[in-house]
Amino acid sequence: MATVYLGLGTNIGDRRTNITTAVALLSERAGTILALSGLYETEPWGFVSENPFLNAALILETPLSPLELLDTAQQIEKEMGRTRESDGRYHDRLIDLDLLMYDDMVIETPALTLPHPLMHQRIFVLAPLAEIAPAATHPLLGKTIGELYGSIS
Ligand code: ADP
Ligand code: MG
Repeated sequence: MATVYLGLGTNIGDRRTNITTAVALLSERAGTILALSGLYETEPWGFVSENPFLNAALILETPLSPLELLDTAQQIEKEMGRTRESDGRYHDRLIDLDLLMYDDMVIETPALTLPHPLMHQRIFVLAPLAEIAPAATHPLLGKTIGELYGSIS
């Protein structure tokens, strides 16, 4: 079993329901949810939109490999109606599921980078994650989530 930290984001539709649905599907298909943060309203990051995001983080205990979990997360995004644009820009989205950390694993491929390459710079990732996992350590930076959050907030 692996311990995984996941980030969730949504900025269109019924955002609260989108988060709840994604969490329910993850617990059905990916393992046991050990903790779920509160919901954080944040401004869109990297693009302009009138629709603020609702972000959350969770801790998952999973038997799935990193790529199996990425697959499962992308399948859930797809089923929930997210359309993927291919222009490489950021867009409004019904649900975005990001793998933030998977145990101490370090992977650097286009399909999957672990830890998530921008997690330590993003307040909308660190705020919910610091609520549920302040002592978890970033395997590359050697700092805790609480320390990383404190250094950007
Ligand atoms: P973003 O989450 O950056 O807003 P997307 O959700 O559209 O954008 O993800 C783009 C691609 O990032 C996905 O096709 C996925 O293969 C890749 N990716 C790389 N590392 C990760 C990760 N740690 N978690 C989720 N997706 C990742
Ligand atoms: Mg994503």
